[in-house]
Amino acid sequence: MTDNEHETQMIPPHVIEARQKLVKTEKNLEKLGAFEIAFQMLKLAKENDKQNIFLNAGRGNPNWIQTISRLAFSRLIEFGVHESEQTIHRDDLAGYTNREGISFRLRHYLSPDTNKADAFIIDAINYCHHYFKFNDDDFVKELIDGVIGNDYPVPSRVLHFSESIINAYLASTLYHGVDAQKLASETQVFPTEGGTAAIAYIFNSLKENKLIHKGDQIVVNTPIFTPYLSIPKLNDYELQSIDLSSDESNHWELSSESIKKLNNTQAKVLMLVNPSNPGSMALNDQALDAIHEAVKHNPDLMIITDDVYGTFADNFKSVYAVAPYNTLLVYSYSKLFGATGWRIGTIAVHNTNVFDHLIAGLPDDAKAEVNKRYSHVTLTPESMSFIDRMVADSRSVGLYHTSGLSTPQQIMEVLFSLAHLVNEEKDGIDRDHYIQEAKEIVNTRYKLLNKGLNIDGYDSPHNTKYYSLINIYELATQYHGKEFSDWMRSSFTQIDFLYKLSKRYGAVLMNGVGFGSHPGILRVSEANLSDEAYSMIAADIHDLMDSYYKRWITEEKHEK
Ligand SMILES: *Cc1c(COP(=O)(O)O)cnc(C)c1O
Repeated sequence: MTDNEHETQMIPPHVIEARQKLVKTEKNLEKLGAFEIAFQMLKLAKENDKQNIFLNAGRGNPNWIQTISRLAFSRLIEFGVHESEQTIHRDDLAGYTNREGISFRLRHYLSPDTNKADAFIIDAINYCHHYFKFNDDDFVKELIDGVIGNDYPVPSRVLHFSESIINAYLASTLYHGVDAQKLASETQVFPTEGGTAAIAYIFNSLKENKLIHKGDQIVVNTPIFTPYLSIPKLNDYELQSIDLSSDESNHWELSSESIKKLNNTQAKVLMLVNPSNPGSMALNDQALDAIHEAVKHNPDLMIITDDVYGTFADNFKSVYAVAPYNTLLVYSYSKLFGATGWRIGTIAVHNTNVFDHLIAGLPDDAKAEVNKRYSHVTLTPESMSFIDRMVADSRSVGLYHTSGLSTPQQIMEVLFSLAHLVNEEKDGIDRDHYIQEAKEIVNTRYKLLNKGLNIDGYDSPHNTKYYSLINIYELATQYHGKEFSDWMRSSFTQIDFLYKLSKRYGAVLMNGVGFGSHPGILRVSEANLSDEAYSMIAADIHDLMDSYYKRWITEEKHEK
């Protein structure tokens, strides 16, 4: 050991003090949820020490948008206003549209040869005429009044034609390997203000209908999108969570062995995010078989599956396609279509389902109490389906008559759905060029990140590559050995790396612990930054790792 190194071991008191302060700050931060920690990191990152441009790879929000459906939406509004002026027209005031001949007038109004959006609208109407046998005037009237928004959503759960289209979209994208068309025809949907509202409505209606009680067991596939961990803990619910956890040893894939645990539990509810967030893996066939088996053992199991990333896996098969009787499906248009601001998603449920069955089987006193809740809005509350109860509950029952997702939002869902259906018809089965582009974007970024970190990616049709989970202790081992990694783990708080990455480099990642994963796991979103940013983040991680290594060499390693 040189004299110089001896000297550096004498850590000055002000440095010790600063380090203690940092530990205190970090310990406080650790008490927050993953999204709240990321918010704090963002503030640090904006004023980072190196004055780097700050890179927020925490966000799952995509940085791309789908254009054609938006343009079509705008054209439909223009036509709708023009139509409205045919009945009353006084300056900025116009009347209601007329149904008779409206589809003919729309075709006349559009210029499909020169305007791509117009061509799409015509393709979409032809598609619906051909596949769903819609009456053109009725369908166009629903689209036009829908975008104009001159009436409450009627029927309040979902607009008539819109339901078939949303169902066809879900079938085409999420029900591979089963008779998707048949399943679609047996499915009811309730469009909601994004996946967010869907999740909130589901928890609320399960509770209001006494399908879940305090202390019930709820099973979740961790690591998982944080609301599925935090909502069950609220004092409204106080559910006991059981983890079906996955980890990097299995590439974050949920194993069928793990699912088999369900066969011997009292679990009432299984909550899945599939493909997972943050793990980004779709259930494989064995896992789906295990679910199929689990509902045989536990026929009253209620399953909620959140499939918002379904289109990013190849040939995705939802748990809903495997166990439709037991499953409530949540889908959101937010991610694929770059539409988080629109707030559009849907709940889907089978005509014959365990939720209705369990409501019918409630003990008499509970049933009477629950039915009373809905007796203000229906004369036959006992036959009100669970999905309609969710619609009523979404507006505190009393406002059921004005419930439902806004009609422009519903038509935006329809136009996104139709773009897929029309593309797929053109590009061939399972080949919608828009979906291919979106997948390619996240795939490129995933590769750049892994290349920068010198780690192998995991190529699998189940890997959506929408997020990556990196284990900094494994990286530390890979770069500088196990002893160094152990020192890192024992000498710093579990968010120290994340903290320093933000504060020094301006790069924000998310902490896996908040998602129910273990310390050292950080989530990188491949959705939100330019391709180059992923190489930059990898370089920052290298650089930061080097600085820990230097500290280890100078302060710790030579103490022994
Ligand atoms: C983003 C996300 C949502 C939220 O969807 P919104 O439609 O934007 O509300 C729901 N579930 C998961 C797993 C998500 O990642």
